[in-house]
Amino acid sequence: MNRAARLLLATLILSLGATLGPALAAPTRAAVTSDGPYTTNRFFADLEQQRVTRVVLSSGGMANVTLADGSGTRVRTLVVPPDGATLTRIRKAGVPLTVTGSGSTLGWLGQVLPLLLTGLILVVLWRSMRTGASSANPTAFGRSRAAVIAEGQIKLTFNDVAGCDEAKQDLQEVVDFLRQPERYHQLGARIPHGVLLVGPPGSGKTLLAKAVAGEARVPYFSISGSDFVEMFVGVGAARVRDLFEQARKSAPCIVFIDEIDAVGRKRGVNMQGGNDEREQTLNQLLVEMDGFSSGQEVIILAATNRPDVLDAALLRPGRFDRQVVVDAPDVRGREMILRIHARKKPLDASVDLGVIARRTAGMVGADLENLLNEAALQAARSGRTRIVGRDVEEARDRVLMGPERRSLVVREADRKVTAYHEVGHALAAQLLPHANRVAKLTVVPRGRAAGYMMPDADDRLHVTRPALEDMIAVALAGRAAEQVVFGEITTGAQNDFQQATSIARRMVTEWGMSDRIGKVALASDQGNFLGGGPQMLPMSEGTASQIDSEVKDLIDTAYTRAVHLIGEHLHRVHEIVTVLLTRETLSGEEFTALLDGQTLDPLPPAVPRPSGLAG
Ligand code: ADP
Ligand code: MG
Ligand code: ZN
Repeated sequence: MNRAARLLLATLILSLGATLGPALAAPTRAAVTSDGPYTTNRFFADLEQQRVTRVVLSSGGMANVTLADGSGTRVRTLVVPPDGATLTRIRKAGVPLTVTGSGSTLGWLGQVLPLLLTGLILVVLWRSMRTGASSANPTAFGRSRAAVIAEGQIKLTFNDVAGCDEAKQDLQEVVDFLRQPERYHQLGARIPHGVLLVGPPGSGKTLLAKAVAGEARVPYFSISGSDFVEMFVGVGAARVRDLFEQARKSAPCIVFIDEIDAVGRKRGVNMQGGNDEREQTLNQLLVEMDGFSSGQEVIILAATNRPDVLDAALLRPGRFDRQVVVDAPDVRGREMILRIHARKKPLDASVDLGVIARRTAGMVGADLENLLNEAALQAARSGRTRIVGRDVEEARDRVLMGPERRSLVVREADRKVTAYHEVGHALAAQLLPHANRVAKLTVVPRGRAAGYMMPDADDRLHVTRPALEDMIAVALAGRAAEQVVFGEITTGAQNDFQQATSIARRMVTEWGMSDRIGKVALASDQGNFLGGGPQMLPMSEGTASQIDSEVKDLIDTAYTRAVHLIGEHLHRVHEIVTVLLTRETLSGEEFTALLDGQTLDPLPPAVPRPSGLAG
């Protein structure tokens, strides 16, 4: 667009000049010459004195007069009166006279240029419509937009990726093949052309693909699925063709198609009708993948978090017939990832990456990287030169719940309700046999939460039914405490209910944990790594209402257990709430001590606290 725009501007100026130029320029030029304006009278005088050797007259009345005298020739310009008398006088003087149709060449252009201009505008418009506003080079149209990284340029290796050891093992074979293809050819082994990396966003799929190229030391072509999808039919397919042509020339190499679901969705299921372009692109991709001869060592990696929407043709043998799962890391994986990203950050001895890993269940690599970055920012804000444990703690809460809102003015009555609510959660977490213990609880508002209880999460691969029932009870125990202590309930527990209901629903519909409904799967979240919740399978109305009543039963039972638990320990609950309101935040250890009836060491007096909260 840039070049085209400049061209357009130039044309505009030129044609303006051409149309206005003759009219404006002539008198001005005449006026500027040293010996005054060249007037009609002077022209006639020159004619009579035989100083004029030639006159070129244009239809606009412009005359270029060539004068010759002792000092040489000059050309003067003037506007002659548009009457026959002037012509007659020139002829009489015997001066050669040329009459041009529309005057000077510029004048002629002035008539043609507007036409040219219109044409040019049309061409530019048409082109920008076809390529989108991004393409600066008109010839790049239909070329692949792959970012190419030459061999040896990638410094990334498997050491920079953690928490997905199985995936690395699977990909090691690809690396070996790219390094020594002969070894495999000799054995007649067929190496997969296509490997699909599947996993939730931020788990390191893109990172891993690049690390494969770094390990294998081969060129790396990377392109995103959405780069193929264009508004105009045929462009995407042309890009695919071009990409593979380039790749074949650079073999052995890796082609990485990120977010392949943008182009590889099931054909013929889209509602909008107009997906010819995407289908063509996908077809071209399939054709290219089939078109490799055995000697061409091009390995195609692709990544997606929606393997469930991919066209089955993509997954057939010879195409993406290998899937490598890059899942969210477990506790050990999280620790390793934290170690990788902590390499370039000055950490104080008070930072225990193992503890952080335990308290960040569910986070993926991208989250953990972000967490450490937040911690570094926090340290900088506080004017420290090293990151301390508190920075990381704060960063985690910030990432999970939003920034702390200490300045928020909370009514004392509300703080009290919040304190009972959070102590309720904590009590259930600490006392129910299968629940995760308390890591921290606070009444300092953060994000949208008035306070919160952070459980010391672990990653259990298999969660038993009793554990799930305890989870529901912990989620409901905040509300239960409000009920027991105040006899009334508030609106502060909405999120708790969503959580409890979601667990109960999944127990019934996905995990076959309901006696009445039995061991059938009524929902499926197979292959959906976006966490958008399970997809309900078709079912009868009777089954649907049975599900609802089962879910309600689970919730009611759990709620009753929570209410009993709090009633039993009500005395302790009151005590702990008093301490929590004074200290605002309790660690897991402090909470455990209080629950055992111990008293906490007094706070060091140096730490300033908001006054007037004792009670
Ligand atoms: P995905 O492609 O799966 O969405 P990315 O590979 O783009 O995720 O990850 C984003 C960033 O998060 C990476 O650049 C890296 O810094 C960090 N990251 C993600 N996963 C890992 C991991 N397993 N090990 C180390 N860093 C990771
Ligand atoms: Mg990615
Ligand atoms: Zn709650």
